[in-house]
Amino acid sequence: MLGPMHNDIETILFSTEEILAGLIRLAEEITRDFGDEEFTVVGVLKGSVVFVSDLVRNLDTTLEMAFVSASSYRSGTESGKLDLTFFPMDEEITGKRILLADDILDTGRTMFALKHELLARGAAEVKTCVFLDKPSRRSVELEADYRCFEVEDLFVVGYGLDYAGRYRNLPYVGDLKPSVYESPADSSKREGVSA
Ligand code: 5GP
Ligand code: MG
Repeated sequence: MLGPMHNDIETILFSTEEILAGLIRLAEEITRDFGDEEFTVVGVLKGSVVFVSDLVRNLDTTLEMAFVSASSYRSGTESGKLDLTFFPMDEEITGKRILLADDILDTGRTMFALKHELLARGAAEVKTCVFLDKPSRRSVELEADYRCFEVEDLFVVGYGLDYAGRYRNLPYVGDLKPSVYESPADSSKREGVSA
């Protein structure tokens, strides 16, 4: 018997099995490209946590992990100001090869800002890696070096991606039933911090 959060999903876009197959393909590509040289996977909190934890376990290389946080204060569907919080020490960044990983590349503003901040802090190289890519939404000049899947312009949840803080733990990716957005209980959460 499945828990109630599954009832809020309209359509499953990527199943658990499809995600695993996509991850293995992506991890092989990264392992091949990075070769024997050590690097640091920098995950963007909170959305990338599920993706990064599965990805690193499929990377057969020597690596370190670090996290940054980028919150965009959204009103409706438009990204607003970006608030970058850095947890890594300078010595974790300076001179390092970095694989910057996020849940989804939408307008691209988050990854663009973080990539340039990491380079400004002395990273030797920054490659970008996303679980999902929505190319139709891009507003800055940035393409992911690595991506698992492309998605159309649709708001998706699951596998780390949230709506009002929920659904990150869904083991698949789907879109929400319209009734979830219309629910009065959730209307106070519709605007706020998303990461
Ligand atoms: P960008 O800066 O590329 O516009 O935004 C990226 C961030 O917006 C992602 O890290 C994610 O937090 C959020 N985002 C963009 N599209 C979606 C989506 O379809 N679903 C969810 N849950 N978050 C999204
Ligand atoms: Mg995010």
